[in-house]
Amino acid sequence: DNGANVRVVVRVRAFLPREIKRGAECLISMDPRTQRTTLHVPNDTDPANARSKSRKVIEEKSFTFDNSFWSHDRDDPQYATQEDVYNSLGEEFLDHNFEGYHTCIFAYGQTGSGKSYTMMGTPDQPGLIPRTCEDLFQRIEAAQSETPNISYHVRASYFEVYNEHVRDLLVPAVPNQPPYYLKIRESPTEGPYVKDLTEVPVRSLNEILRYMQAGDANRTVASTKMNDTSSRSHAVFTIMLKQIHHDMETDETTERSSRIRLVDLAGSERAKATEATGTRLREGSNINKSLTTLGRVIAALADPKHHHHRPSGNRGLRRDVVPYRDSILTWLLKDSLGGNSKTAMIACIAPSDYEETLSTLRYADQAKRIRTRAVVNQEDHV
Ligand code: ADP
Ligand code: MG
Repeated sequence: DNGANVRVVVRVRAFLPREIKRGAECLISMDPRTQRTTLHVPNDTDPANARSKSRKVIEEKSFTFDNSFWSHDRDDPQYATQEDVYNSLGEEFLDHNFEGYHTCIFAYGQTGSGKSYTMMGTPDQPGLIPRTCEDLFQRIEAAQSETPNISYHVRASYFEVYNEHVRDLLVPAVPNQPPYYLKIRESPTEGPYVKDLTEVPVRSLNEILRYMQAGDANRTVASTKMNDTSSRSHAVFTIMLKQIHHDMETDETTERSSRIRLVDLAGSERAKATEATGTRLREGSNINKSLTTLGRVIAALADPKHHHHRPSGNRGLRRDVVPYRDSILTWLLKDSLGGNSKTAMIACIAPSDYEETLSTLRYADQAKRIRTRAVVNQEDHV
């Protein structure tokens, strides 16, 4: 049995200038020995937490995750850099890809909690996606001289789910034209996929980084036009790695294919009732739909009952209990959430927002109970 739990890690970011200005206090502490993260009760100096404080009882809460990244205070010896995050998570996941496993790493958290910083990063501080690309091509180059009988083929795609529509980020939006949306299909062998999605072959690090940046720019172009799309859209960067091994002696060919999925989710904050009017209501409720469904999928998968009832020959008995198909995002990520994939969730938290942070930590705590069953994706041709 290849069953393994979803890896769940948490990362807290530094204060932003606006938080320093309003006198925010850090409500988070992390114990590097136990990986325990504690959310403390806010005092009365920070107006941002006053509203939630007046509404309900607030108490200290602790959670334990597989890893906790303290990225709050650069002077702290425990400070986790982008490189530390890559070394303790990204590198191992890339090992699995070379072994032939599909992987998925997704970042969850409220807008402004550091999801894009963690996944994409900045030119000076590259995140998990560019570091994975760099390591991938370094390994391929090293292997090509050592094992010339293995050939490596890399393809990349990049799409976003916005307002329950799928948009190809490698196809630039045409000005003054309505955006072009792609459809989802389901294949019996590959599962759900985006029909006609651009999948570019890439031969070098520079090439894949150019696609990554172009896709990101397409996301940003839309966001200035459409009211901060990036906090409402889910961005999915996918790398397909195929290793073809030819055995000279037996003349046998073995193909290993793995998929590397890196997901920057939309902001998890609940749509504020006062802001949700007109188009934004529809957008908000649809974004909510993908995120609410993700929450329901995670809850169903984390339910201990789910582990006892494996669908066997008795088709249909428990097949629809997990509501993957209720939203575009969960349908497309079906495999990564509850199937053939090694999966990790990075819960990103802001240092001084009690209510949103508690909601993120609870979500992450539930995700720890999810088990996936990854297999090596290998085909032999004699
Ligand atoms: P999100 O994608 O979750 O909305 P961002 O990644 O855009 O959030 O982060 C919000 C802001 O915080 C950005 O200015 C980003 O550069 C900064 N930031 C986030 N995480 C860190 C970190 N670990 N260290 C330093 N700055 C960070
Ligand atoms: Mg972002």
